[in-house]
Amino acid sequence: MKVAAKFKADTSKRWLTLDYRPLDVEQQVREFWQTHKVREKLEQLRSTRNNGVLGYVEGPPTLNGLPHVGHARGRVMKDLRYRWKSMQGFYVPFWAGWDCQGLPVELEVERELGVKNKKDLVEKVGEERFVAECKKTVMKYHKEWFEADAKLGVFMNHDKAYWTYRDEYIEREWQYLKRAWEQGLLGEGYYIVAYCPHCQTSLSNAEVGLGYEEVEDPSLYFKLKVKNAQNEYFLVWTTMPFTLVTDLMLAVHPEAEYAKVKVGEETWIMVKQRVELLMEELKVTGWKVAEVVSGKALEGVKYEYPFLEAVLKQRELDQHRLVHTVVTEDFVDVTAATGVVHLAPGNGEDDFWVAKRRNVPVYAPFDDEAKFTADAGEFAGLFARDSDSVVVDLLRKKGLLVSVKTVSHEYPLCWRSHHKLVWLARREYFLWTDKMNSRVVEAAEKVRYFFESPKNRFLSFLREGKPWCVSRERVWGAPLPVWVCQNCGNKELVASKKELMDRADSEPPADFELHKPWVDRLVLKCGKCGGLMKREPFVLDTWHNSGACPYARFSDKEFEKYVPTDFLVEAVDQTRGWANTLLLEHVLLTEKSEAPYRNYLFYGFVLDAKGRKMSKSLGNVLDVNTLLQHYSSDLCRFYTLWKCSPVDSMNFDVKELTKRPFQVLGTLYHLHRFFMQNAEYDHFDPRLHTLKWAEENGVLRPVDRWLLSKLQQAVSECTVKLETCEFNFAAEALETLVVDPVSLEYVPMVRRDLWSDDPETLNRRLTVYATLWQTLRTLVLLFNPFTPFVCEFLYQNVCRTLDNTLPESVNLESWPVPDEVLRNVELEQDFAMLQRVVALSYSARQAAQLKRRWPLQKVVVVVPKDGQRVFRGLEDLFVELANVKSVGYLDELNPPHTEAEEKRWKVASEGDVHVLLDTVRDSRLLGEGVMRDLARRVQALRKELGFAPTDVLGAVFLAELDEETSGLLEPFLGEMAGLVRAGQVRLVRDRSEVKVEWREFSFDDRRVYVAVAQ
Ligand SMILES: [Zn+2]
Ligand SMILES: [Zn+2]
Repeated sequence: MKVAAKFKADTSKRWLTLDYRPLDVEQQVREFWQTHKVREKLEQLRSTRNNGVLGYVEGPPTLNGLPHVGHARGRVMKDLRYRWKSMQGFYVPFWAGWDCQGLPVELEVERELGVKNKKDLVEKVGEERFVAECKKTVMKYHKEWFEADAKLGVFMNHDKAYWTYRDEYIEREWQYLKRAWEQGLLGEGYYIVAYCPHCQTSLSNAEVGLGYEEVEDPSLYFKLKVKNAQNEYFLVWTTMPFTLVTDLMLAVHPEAEYAKVKVGEETWIMVKQRVELLMEELKVTGWKVAEVVSGKALEGVKYEYPFLEAVLKQRELDQHRLVHTVVTEDFVDVTAATGVVHLAPGNGEDDFWVAKRRNVPVYAPFDDEAKFTADAGEFAGLFARDSDSVVVDLLRKKGLLVSVKTVSHEYPLCWRSHHKLVWLARREYFLWTDKMNSRVVEAAEKVRYFFESPKNRFLSFLREGKPWCVSRERVWGAPLPVWVCQNCGNKELVASKKELMDRADSEPPADFELHKPWVDRLVLKCGKCGGLMKREPFVLDTWHNSGACPYARFSDKEFEKYVPTDFLVEAVDQTRGWANTLLLEHVLLTEKSEAPYRNYLFYGFVLDAKGRKMSKSLGNVLDVNTLLQHYSSDLCRFYTLWKCSPVDSMNFDVKELTKRPFQVLGTLYHLHRFFMQNAEYDHFDPRLHTLKWAEENGVLRPVDRWLLSKLQQAVSECTVKLETCEFNFAAEALETLVVDPVSLEYVPMVRRDLWSDDPETLNRRLTVYATLWQTLRTLVLLFNPFTPFVCEFLYQNVCRTLDNTLPESVNLESWPVPDEVLRNVELEQDFAMLQRVVALSYSARQAAQLKRRWPLQKVVVVVPKDGQRVFRGLEDLFVELANVKSVGYLDELNPPHTEAEEKRWKVASEGDVHVLLDTVRDSRLLGEGVMRDLARRVQALRKELGFAPTDVLGAVFLAELDEETSGLLEPFLGEMAGLVRAGQVRLVRDRSEVKVEWREFSFDDRRVYVAVAQ
């Protein structure tokens, strides 16, 4: 069956009998959106008729794994913003994008192929097959993401998606490099990079920041003997013993005082302020400070490098004037360890710069697996970190070991493969973004981040301003388009496929694409000498791919129109990731201090119910597609937006979905049902029975005005909170309105008006419908960005059923604007006062054990004079809510005169407001109370038997009530018939008198039998 037909044929009668079943609702709506092409129509509408354009570019998910709830949180926020801004009349190019290349994808494929390392990969699998497998993996995960978006109701345009691996994208991405090349900001250099021995590639600084974890390392104290001195040693500490192989210098702080400490026969040199603590830590007793010298005085002292025999290359290096001597440096920390730092320029960034400045050669004897090469002598073939124990043993043999323990500390692991990173000097390509750092920071400062903590995190990260190592020694990536002449060394950056083809010395194959291995088969002719040019073998950091999307994914015209984008939202770890690379590349491209985004919201992580990080090893990862097989998308959406501030980490507990979120959406649903059942019965027509009509006919009462005022308040509150990205407060504004003013307050206050079907009071009922229509319709619009499924369902089944001139989908509607004319703060305050007093009357009842259903004679309200004025205006309503026959007023509370008086009047107080409740009931009040109790049972029975509230029953029978009760009830049977919507209510002495199906109820310790007949 066509869904459109279903929505039409399925008259309110059918769905109105159902409870809120979100999974059914969502399936119907998904089909409706698809058949009616609602997403397409929305984009079409806003692209042609809009109040402006808000640029957007998708932060592309990496297609190497399943979408989990952490991703869903971000996607829901993106969709919320999109639907909301579209309803406000803006056009947003909400187009998908996919990050397809790079290490994350390669590692996923390696796992699938069972490849251990890069060497295996190239030799056993081959680059062609590997690339094909990467593409397959990308498509496999794309299917999952596509499905997740459909399930979540994310209205992203997937037809316009960009794919970072496509040639046309790569070519435009290259334009960034071209701009950098022209500005002299792209170049090669030896540099210390973080290197993952498993992935066999370097990582950017930003990537290093992604993977800090607590790990164990050796904590080694050792001695280095001062040359030409008797038994004198420097005391040194390290957690990376292997760096002793590449040790070239020691550094001390020039201004600090260093002590020469007598330890037995030996003298140890260390910073003075640490002596006592160190001796204690090393359990050295009987020591004594023999002499104190300045750090400056130690400069140039030569020490004996301990592995001269083991590492021949070091013997050669030792000839250098400064190698194996002490230098002074301000960065030496004298508050930790010994204040004497050993320097291995091939393995540390600071060390590297010390060597560079002094023209000391950098010694980095490592291969691609971070194993020592032949240059490292006896260490050749050992993996760097595996040499730690060898170094310790050697030191021990030479009597240079002081102490070795294990220390637990934060250390960066590879964010993908979780291997400990090592720092190595390697030849790489860099974007020298450090040279334009002030422009970058200035650009970032102009952006709005909504919350302070991620903003500070981002800005302080940017201020570090380190160069960006963009080269990767991998396979599946955008190639670095730099060609080098094998003859004259000339380098050229060729950023166009066509130019490559034109300059190639042979015809490229038909399956040519801008990837390894194909691109490396192109040999170009040198523009200078005519020699052969080969490409530098690197691919680009995958973060460069996604950071290039503002230019790469659009045409030039679109780029002009959509960039800088208006609003981006990604997880908080993207401060070092996408937010950073987007910014750097945009400044490079435009040379302006301008970010490619005006607003950037960083959202917190999603943790499990107990607040633990979700991880494969804990088995607590919730993937979106599995979750949404069993749980409602609307509930998940509402829950993630409502539970906490977007910037906070969120503990996701599926058990909570069915609690408050279900209650809120269930209430919204049932309010519509209640409204629809009544409105249809009275032939309410929203086009005729408008608020204007009610106003003109003078049938709008304070209670209606009050609700309409509350509604305006919620509209402005929700809108303001969406603007400030406090989605939880926006959701709370809606939650509060639905549950309290509408459901718990307004509906009970007008229920009695609706119950009658007297033609004389029809206008009153139509006014209530007009008020509810306005309120519920507005609520559906306000809820739509949060929970689009239930909103579309209610919009079709209620709004469009009553008014078929409305737009085809709720998404094509306009965002509500608060109507100041309908706002009445004074009235809201009056109602707050009324509710306070009604609540007091309830507590007085409770104290007197009198049910709310039982009418009472009188209540006396004790409030100051101006409070009484408020009250008199709302007296009708108060009498009804307090369920009393009359109300009296007093200025102040007088103590009771007699004991009888004290017994009769129950008092409840709050501050200077008091309520006196008359607890005495005569036979009329008792009879009416009985009638109401019984009416409630009949209502329950009606509902149970499946009657709609508007159905009129033929008769209701009550049997086997005692004589006294029957007598009390008798005068109220007519009223009861009206209440339970029956032709008549009849009392029967014995059940056998009438042939009907009796139902037994207990009733104040007694028994009563009830039956209904149609
Ligand atoms: Zn790795
Ligand atoms: Zn040349």
